[in-house]
Parts: sequence; structure tokens; C-alpha cells
Amino acid sequence: MYAKRISEKIYLLDTYALGIPGTVGAYLLKGPKPALVDCGYASSYEAVLKGLAEVGVMPSDVRYIIPTHVHLDHAGAAGRLLREMPNAEVLAHERGVPHLIDPTKLVESSTRVFGESIMALYGLPEPIAAERVTGVGAEAHLDLGDGLTVTLMHSPGHAPHQISVLVDGARSLLTADAVGIVYPDLKALIPTTPPPSFDPSQLVATVATLRQTSPAELLLPHFAARKDVEWVFDRTAELVESWVRQVSRMRKQNVGLDQAAESMEKTVAADAGVEGLPVYARVSVRTSVMGILHYLEKGG
Ligand SMILES: [Zn+2]
Repeated sequence: MYAKRISEKIYLLDTYALGIPGTVGAYLLKGPKPALVDCGYASSYEAVLKGLAEVGVMPSDVRYIIPTHVHLDHAGAAGRLLREMPNAEVLAHERGVPHLIDPTKLVESSTRVFGESIMALYGLPEPIAAERVTGVGAEAHLDLGDGLTVTLMHSPGHAPHQISVLVDGARSLLTADAVGIVYPDLKALIPTTPPPSFDPSQLVATVATLRQTSPAELLLPHFAARKDVEWVFDRTAELVESWVRQVSRMRKQNVGLDQAAESMEKTVAADAGVEGLPVYARVSVRTSVMGILHYLEKGG
């Protein structure tokens, strides 16, 4: 199953990142003008198409692709999908638009983080024609027809150009990576603080801003719907600050990335009450520790 119904007009599409279910999701907002929020890695585009087919949406029906930010697990497949979606335009934060049109720098910086062999598994994003992308600023409103309207809100911190999407009537908030990762099989939250532009104070401020929208549920890209809204917000803010403190302490003691990541893996495993973490969760932890180290190296 590639698609899961969240509510009348909202579907979670599992993109089966690297073949693994329950790790990278996209959301379909199914109005008369269907919108796809996020779309997974470039190598996941067929899974997205299968999800749409399950929901009965033809690729040519899709009117908007809305990558919440340009990271490869959110926007990687956008260029490839646009080839199948002749009637779709892309909406993204204005600061992310240049990276969608020319992903060269994004691919370079992602390769530095993940290495060539993992990048080959993720797949490379295809450039998107400038005339098919529109940039949005602090806030934008979108009418998908038949009473389905959404608000796109700038939600920096994880990345400076990130947006979150509030479904107005249902008050379902598609958070993007403004909140931490909660994998379905792991009862712990992992902060999402990757390089190169994670900023802890912006991230915590974004959590406060999103909280004010009083969402009824949070729809996480990693992964699925959460009704425990306050817990996710609280835990995100708390752990971002605590991870920065812990990694900073380790850095002062000249602890390197591998050891710091291992140490944070242990705290997540203890939190979840498990012995060890699955490999995809270990990658998440390591990436977050890298982002914090990078932030500290820039001078904090
Ligand atoms: Zn992500």
C-alpha cells in the first residue's frame, strides 16, 4: 500500500525511501486542484505515482507540487514527476527556488554530507524549468477548490527556506521538518538538525509560531499523523536545545562525529526502550549530529 487516507481530502503517500516503508512520506491534498506536498527522493518517484494511482488521481490531474524545502527527501523527485504532470506548477519558498532550478550546489553539499554511494541510492534531482516554479514569501494562501484551502507558512530553522502547510478547515498541519522525526516503530523523537543551515533558535521560534495555529493534528514527513500535538512540539523544542548542549560539550572534549553520533544514538535507543536503532534511524541521528557540529563550527 502506497497511500493511506488521513481524512476526507488528505492522503499520506509512502515514498518507500530506499525501499523502506514508513520513513519518508509525502501528502496529497485532494481537491479539484490536487496538490502534492513533498515528493521524496528522486529514486522514489515511481512510488509516488503508485500512491496517486491508489487514490485515483492521474498525474495529469496534479496542479501543484509543493516541496516544503529543497532537501533531497522532500524535493528530490519533483523534477522527474513534473515530466509526468504537464499541468502542475511548483510552489516553494523563494529562497529555495534557485536550488530547484539549478540543483548543482545542493547536490554538492548533499554529497559532502552523505557520500557518493548513498547519493546514488537517493538519485539526483532533475533541474526544474524556471517558468514552472513560483516562489512564496512569509505566507501564502492557496485555493484547491471545493472549500479546500491551505496556508503556506515560512518555517525556518531546519532549513532557512522551509515552509509548513496548514489545511485551513481540518486544521491539519503538514509540519515539514519543523518538528522532529518520530518513526512508527520507534517510540522516541529524533531532532532534525542537518547541515548546512540548521539554526536552533530559529527552529525553536518556528515551533512556537506553528503552535499558535492550534493544529488538530500534525502530519509528519517522517512519519505520518500525530494527534499528540503538544508532545511533538514540546519534545522537539526540548530536544533541539538539549542535543545542541550535549554535542557542544562533546565537541569541547574533542569527541569526533562518530563517537558523538554513537552517544546520541544511545540516548534515542534508551528513550525508545530498545537495544539498538534501525539503520535509517542511525542515519537520521548521525545527520542531525553533523548539522549541530556544523552549526557550532560556524560559531554557533
Ligand atoms: Zn526530511
